[in-house]
Amino acid sequence: MAKIHDRVDANSDGATTPARSLDFIRTIVTEDLRTNKWGGRVQTRFPPEPNGYLHIGHAKSICLNFGIAKQFGGMCNLRFDDTNPTAEEEEYVQSIQHDVKWLGWDWEDRLYFASDYFEQMYQWAVELIKKEKAYVCDLRADETSQHRGTLTKQGNDSPYRNRTAAENLDLFERMRKGEFSDGAKTLRAKIDMAHANMNMRDPVMYRILHATHHNTGDKWCIYPMYDWAHGLEDSIEGITHSICTLEFEDHRPLYDWFIDAINEGRGPGSPQGEKVHHPQQIEFARLELTYTVMSKRKLLELVKGKYVNGWDDPRLPTISGLRRRGVPPEAIREFCDRIGVAKFNSTIDVQLLEHCIRDYLNKTAMRVMAVLRPLKVIIDNYPGGQVEELDAINNPEDASMGTRKVPFSQVLYIERDDFREDPPKQFFRLAPGREVRLRYGYFITCKSVVKDPKTGEVTELHCTYDPATRGGDSPDGRKVKATLHWVSASHAVQVEVRLYDHLFSKENPNETPDGGDWKSNLNPNSLDSLIPAYIEPSVASAAPGSRYQFERVGYFCVDLDSTIGKLVFNRIVTLKDTWAKIEKKQG
Ligand code: ATP
Ligand code: MG
Repeated sequence: MAKIHDRVDANSDGATTPARSLDFIRTIVTEDLRTNKWGGRVQTRFPPEPNGYLHIGHAKSICLNFGIAKQFGGMCNLRFDDTNPTAEEEEYVQSIQHDVKWLGWDWEDRLYFASDYFEQMYQWAVELIKKEKAYVCDLRADETSQHRGTLTKQGNDSPYRNRTAAENLDLFERMRKGEFSDGAKTLRAKIDMAHANMNMRDPVMYRILHATHHNTGDKWCIYPMYDWAHGLEDSIEGITHSICTLEFEDHRPLYDWFIDAINEGRGPGSPQGEKVHHPQQIEFARLELTYTVMSKRKLLELVKGKYVNGWDDPRLPTISGLRRRGVPPEAIREFCDRIGVAKFNSTIDVQLLEHCIRDYLNKTAMRVMAVLRPLKVIIDNYPGGQVEELDAINNPEDASMGTRKVPFSQVLYIERDDFREDPPKQFFRLAPGREVRLRYGYFITCKSVVKDPKTGEVTELHCTYDPATRGGDSPDGRKVKATLHWVSASHAVQVEVRLYDHLFSKENPNETPDGGDWKSNLNPNSLDSLIPAYIEPSVASAAPGSRYQFERVGYFCVDLDSTIGKLVFNRIVTLKDTWAKIEKKQG
């Protein structure tokens, strides 16, 4: 039999071009369909815990689960794995649904909550007690972990392990009724305290927690542990391919044990009923990105500690942060497609994500001119009151996006960086005595420089233009080495532009010298706000969420903070595509 192996893709060395062939999970699904393993069904799910906002790692799992269902004519559920009332909130339930939809996926009428299965789970726990496969234990949490042993030392049996089924049934029922305080008792699976796999050493199935749940309110004061609940949820929903991340590989024997324990004695004609569905779990490597922290716990710390401005801060890898920054969902889906899935952990270069964003925006974003750090230019020989409407191309990649008019007049702004009084060798842009082209406009020549007498800072340039070069070509074939973007000072709109850099200065933010705080790797310059910047008037009434390419500068999106008359732009990405170069070099 052919061995099912991982495809070689961007996961393996972070750089190779993607193989669009079947990944190892899709290979399994294809084979299961061929052998009719699940009666032709493909049923997946995305099972977030509503204890935070989704991040781009979740997007990988979402695209995988919904993508496989779509590709193979199956179905994918959205299921909230809400077994821990203390960390979970309705706000997260809402945001997660919004994010999955925004990414372009649809669970139709299959929105489920693990908490809706609590009664069924309880009944199954009762069955396990009756089969002497579970017992009520009075050890406290610290004692339980002491008894557990280590990887090299086997654990010790709990002194409560041999309670009778009748005694356990009584205690478990009273746990449910609320007779005991938090932590006073647990229900544990009776497996093997000497098992090599620590997960199999009589794991806790239920704990007592007098806490209000976002869905079930105060109905329950015992809550199922994740390991007990998760496989049952998949079973109840008839999940065929239970796809999860690698850290759950060692939990799979336990999930199998639970289902087998429930199924013992079940079958045709059995008073207990038919066997329950036994899903197949498949593990894949979680997404990690350079310059990014992905754990929900850390993201929560950044938000609660106000290191960033909320869950949708454009510097965060949350879906809401990426959305606010202006990243299109199509680019995230393409990214998830390109990284593929593999069975070994690795870190993906964040430049691949940026490459996917540029790739999409290059084809779709309208080009406009904006000057971020303005320097005034006065064209001395241009008639004072005159305004010309020049034709500008909206997107050179897509002629159907048409053209627009851009006003030109005597006083303009150009980018401060595009002028040097004393230009170094490789600097071809504007300098005293030098001629350059203004995009869609004219050739201009710098004649003189005005400076602030106190600081010596250049405050304005006086130039002349050549009327024969309208549109940007010279009739005599004269060449210039640079084309600059510009805006007309009296027509331009004043805006704020927010430039973002990586939130962390270290490629691996979790790495700190001598175990220091990971937050010491935060980049102090991750946000730079430019006020005023100037943008051409065609953009004056752009709606939040609109995306543009500022010519020669980067891709930008109108931020939610914008109000009428006060536009705020977020930089989505710069234009420089380092990833494309790496790819090209590797041929
Ligand atoms: P975190 O580890 O970041 O706190 P989590 O795994 O606890 O996240 P869940 O809400 O349980 O978060 O995740 C829902 C689903 O998303 C799970 O199936 C999980 O495997 C998957 N997932 C979470 N993080 C990643 C990631 N970085 N890459 C791929 N899948 C992920
Ligand atoms: Mg989890």
